[in-house]
Amino acid sequence: MKTNIVTLLLLLFTCSFLNAQVKVAKIDRSLWPENLNSVENFDYASKMQILVYAKCFLEIQNLNNVEEIKAKYNIKSANVNSFSTWKKDQIQLILQNLHSIKSQTVLDKTIAINKNCTWQDVVKATEKLDKSIPANLKLWYANASDFSRQYANELARLAFLFPKTSSEILTLAPNEITGSNYADKEFLLTFDDGPTKENGNTDKLTATLKSLNLNGMFFVLGEQLQNRINATSTEKLNKLYSNNKLESHGKIHKSHQYLETWQESIDYTFGKIKTITDSKNSRSYFRPPYGQRTEKVANYLNSINASVLLWNIDSQDWNSKINASEVSDRVITLMLLWRKGVVLFHDIHPKANEALPVMVKSLNGSGILFMDANKF
Ligand SMILES: [Zn+2]
Repeated sequence: MKTNIVTLLLLLFTCSFLNAQVKVAKIDRSLWPENLNSVENFDYASKMQILVYAKCFLEIQNLNNVEEIKAKYNIKSANVNSFSTWKKDQIQLILQNLHSIKSQTVLDKTIAINKNCTWQDVVKATEKLDKSIPANLKLWYANASDFSRQYANELARLAFLFPKTSSEILTLAPNEITGSNYADKEFLLTFDDGPTKENGNTDKLTATLKSLNLNGMFFVLGEQLQNRINATSTEKLNKLYSNNKLESHGKIHKSHQYLETWQESIDYTFGKIKTITDSKNSRSYFRPPYGQRTEKVANYLNSINASVLLWNIDSQDWNSKINASEVSDRVITLMLLWRKGVVLFHDIHPKANEALPVMVKSLNGSGILFMDANKF
């Protein structure tokens, strides 16, 4: 009896310990046997990644016991309605992405998929994966399954928390953007939390972007921007960001869902940005810290001709559990999966600077486009 109680306690302790650990989905792209340097190669890797993700998504689609969900994701409340909305969106996106693949050779390869597949066709295709994976894809398949299972759970957790804790998982108003509605293979690079001090990561990153002939949208913190203006000058800041687009991440890095001074925070940073850019763009963008905001925030932004710009590809580059090369593998994999969208990096951390050149090289010839941030 005593032993049983000890065993039970130990089991409970182990379970809660495992739940409390925030894991990040990682994948080793070197296990994929081909490069991504042609449209067909990209589409084949994309199709296989979508199918593996769909299989893992199906594994969690029937979660409905609130107590079990709370324990599984280590959360205090679980909104099953948000989860259900998210699931519908996911199915639609998966179908849309598979329909974007036009090459018959790619559609037929390894696991055949119909040109105009239905969700039922996708379910059937995922059921064939275990038996039909060829020898040269076996290692990749095992690794991609672990990644996709972990990633599906990352997203499901956010869905259950929404809107009590708002995030990028679902939108609250029509002027909120995640990038899921962009055209196939079009991506926007975004960088948060800067600027750093002079000659820091922001400077290195803008130089790297320039050398790669790319640009991005930088969501700056008003207070950080003012610090750097004080230390240098508005002209130097203008030069630092030159070809990139400067947007607001609020004055300070706090959740704008609960911050009483959210409006002042938004206005402050837009005001600071105006002092250093000569941008004539009619629309401005605000990215709430942690993606946390309310419908009121979105409506206010709408009244000043601005939008909430979230993301659908989270690099996790801020996370100490993932290194730069793993960040690049994760982002490339999510680009294959979602085939479009907004990539979230942080210029206050050094990983984007290392990951970007690798990503660009890996995706050369794949037909993807990093969009010009100044066109927004
Ligand atoms: Zn941030």
